[in-house]
Amino acid sequence: MGVPTLGCTCAVCTSSDPHDKRLRPSALLRWPDPVTGVERVVVIDTGPNFREQALREHLTHIDAVFYTHAHADHILGMDDLRPLSFLTYRKNGPIPLYASEATAAVLEKIFSYTLSPQATYPNRARVELKPLEARNIFAGVEFLRVPLLHGQLPITGYRFGRTAYLTDVSSIPEKSFKLLEGLDVLVLSALRHKPHATHASIEQAVAWAGRIGARQTWFTHIAHDLGHEETNRTLPQNIQLAYDGLSVPIIL
Ligand SMILES: [Zn+2]
Ligand SMILES: [Zn+2]
Ligand SMILES: [Zn+2]
Repeated sequence: MGVPTLGCTCAVCTSSDPHDKRLRPSALLRWPDPVTGVERVVVIDTGPNFREQALREHLTHIDAVFYTHAHADHILGMDDLRPLSFLTYRKNGPIPLYASEATAAVLEKIFSYTLSPQATYPNRARVELKPLEARNIFAGVEFLRVPLLHGQLPITGYRFGRTAYLTDVSSIPEKSFKLLEGLDVLVLSALRHKPHATHASIEQAVAWAGRIGARQTWFTHIAHDLGHEETNRTLPQNIQLAYDGLSVPIIL
C-alpha cells in the first residue's frame, strides 16, 4: 500500500525517519555489458511509483523488465516506460517485458491499448511481451525463474548470479530452495509480524532467510506495522529491513 498508508496516522506513517517512507517495491540492476562496456539496465516490476523511482535513480534507459506477478503494486507503472522506450526503440527495438503466461494475460488486458495486436494508439510504449522460461539469458546474464506461491497464486522470484529477489511470497516450494543455494544477497518480502494469508510475516521470513543462508538478507514489501529502526534493532545484522534507494553491490 506504500507508507505512509492512506488514511493512517500511526507512528510509522507519521514518522520523520526517511527510512519509514516506502514506495511500492521493485528492483533495478545495472551492470556494464562485458563486450561493449555499455551500461545495461534491468528493472524487476514497474509499480505505480515507477516514474518517481526512475527519476530518483536518474534512469536514462531501460533494457528489459522482468515481472514477478500482475498485482497493481507491481505492474501499474508500465505505461511510464513510454518515454524511455521512445529513446531506445530505434537503436534496440522494443523493450522486452518478461512475464509468465498468467502475468502476461493481465498485462495484455490492462494495457490492451499498448499490447494488443490491434493497438493503434500511435504513442504507445515500444514494449514487447516475452515468454518467461525457467532460465532466461538477457545481455549475457542468466535470470533464473524461482517458482513461489503468493497465497494460492503462483508467482515468480528471480535469481541472477548469487543474488535472488523474492517478493510477495507466502510459501516457497521445496524445489525452489534448491535454486537458492549459495547466495550472497537475498531480497525477501516480510510484511509485518501479524500473519497474513498471502504474505510472509517477519518470523516466517527470518526462518527462510536462516535456511537459505545468504550472507545478507534484505526484507522488502514492508507494511506500516514495522518501524525501520525499532524493527532492525530486533533483527540479526545479516537480516535487515531494506529501504527506498538502498543500493547493494552484487556479483552477476
Ligand atoms: Zn500507518
Ligand atoms: Zn502481490
Ligand atoms: Zn505486492
